[in-house]
Amino acid sequence: MGAPRRVVVVGNGIAGLTAGDSLRAAGFDGDLTVIGDERHAPYSRPALSKAALLDGEDVTSHLLPAPTHEATELLGVSAAGLDVARRVVVLGDGEEVPYDAVVIATGSRARRLTGAGEAHDDGAGGGELTLRTLEDAERLRRRLADRPSVVVVGGGPLGMEVASGCLATGCEVTLASYGRPLVDQLGSYLSDVFVAAGLRRGLTIAPTHAVGLRRAGARSQVVLADGSVLEADLVVTAVGDDPNLEWLATSGLLTDGRLEVDTRGRVRPDVVAAGDVATIRTRRGARRVPLWTSAIDQSKVAAAALVRGDEAPELDLQPYFWTEQFGLSLKASGFTPVAGAPEIVDGDPADGPALLRWEHADGSGTAVAVNYRIPVPKLRRLAAAAPGLAPAETRVPVPAAVPA
Ligand SMILES: Cc1cc2nc3c(=O)[nH]c(=O)nc-3n(C[C@H](O)[C@H](O)[C@H](O)COP(=O)(O)OP(=O)(O)OC[C@H]3O[C@@H](n4cnc5c(N)ncnc54)[C@H](O)[C@@H]3O)c2cc1C
Repeated sequence: MGAPRRVVVVGNGIAGLTAGDSLRAAGFDGDLTVIGDERHAPYSRPALSKAALLDGEDVTSHLLPAPTHEATELLGVSAAGLDVARRVVVLGDGEEVPYDAVVIATGSRARRLTGAGEAHDDGAGGGELTLRTLEDAERLRRRLADRPSVVVVGGGPLGMEVASGCLATGCEVTLASYGRPLVDQLGSYLSDVFVAAGLRRGLTIAPTHAVGLRRAGARSQVVLADGSVLEADLVVTAVGDDPNLEWLATSGLLTDGRLEVDTRGRVRPDVVAAGDVATIRTRRGARRVPLWTSAIDQSKVAAAALVRGDEAPELDLQPYFWTEQFGLSLKASGFTPVAGAPEIVDGDPADGPALLRWEHADGSGTAVAVNYRIPVPKLRRLAAAAPGLAPAETRVPVPAAVPA
């Protein structure tokens, strides 16, 4: 493929925004069009379950800095199809946007416990609420103002953050999790740290996971796997995400329902994909890595591949993830979940800030900072470093714990 003159980016989240900016940074000076079905400028999705749930500001204060890509932006517009033979993106109204190269960055959406066609939200705040968009965050905040009793379904990082935010606003919160919260994502050592913090703050953990939802007048009922029922004013589910791939159904680009890219983010020479929508190659196999920094790293590589082809660098993803909940903050560099007990690099995990490291069988590592201030590049180096070398290089003054 020669150098593209017209690039279309579909999706205006962090992956689309970064791809546009990175194309310009890599020297692309042709026509750039960004198509995004949300009407807003890109915003910080991670903030929606953290500061945005609590602070008094308008949630639009979490908009990201303005893009530098100088694209023609079609916001509030959905892509409905991709014709790779004719090189056009087909919009919802049938209009076609031609391209020489396209970036697929349509992200993912909240999976729901209730199936298609079943009532999700009755408009009065009953039914099932999820948290993915600014509107979702605004709706949830409005509902929390009444201090409802809340059941959160899902014990991953998002469910735990939502539970933490609801507790902090003064609600009574019960969490229904598939197994112990956070074990699947972080491993049992870190799960214990966060579950203990949640319990100390008054979180109730249900005995088993949820299998269904139903209405009982103005309230919602969550049916658990053991047949028991939890009743609450508000049910928020955080049971995973599904990639937004439907608009690509007839494109011929999907393999077993997945959009797989090579190590430079390419589906084919004129089509790249990045962010939550893409299945990428990692040291742990082909998978989606639906994390903020992963979307940024993928987009930079994919944009470079469109401009420089095989001369662009390949992506060897070292996942980076953070969460804030129950008065604890965690930063993790490297693959999770982690097994067993860590090497304690600094601090005291039982009583305050701690810097931890796990060594994996393949020689790589995962470094985790709990309430511990450390620059991300340093944490990344610690994850990659051989264990004997790490502590002296990375030790930093231990700050006071993050305030409750
Ligand atoms: C509440 C919440 C908290 C999170 N917290 C963290 C965290 O603490 N740390 C972390 O690492 N990650 C976190 N994540 C994950 C992180 O936000 C995502 O990995 C990241 O936003 C993915 O970016 P993206 O651009 O790939 O997708 P998205 O942000 O989903 O953006 C895709 C955009 O494309 C649009 N779109 C979809 N289909 C179409 C179409 N057909 N036509 C046009 N536009 C379309 C979507 O509406 C959306 O605007 C969190 C996610 C959520 C929901």
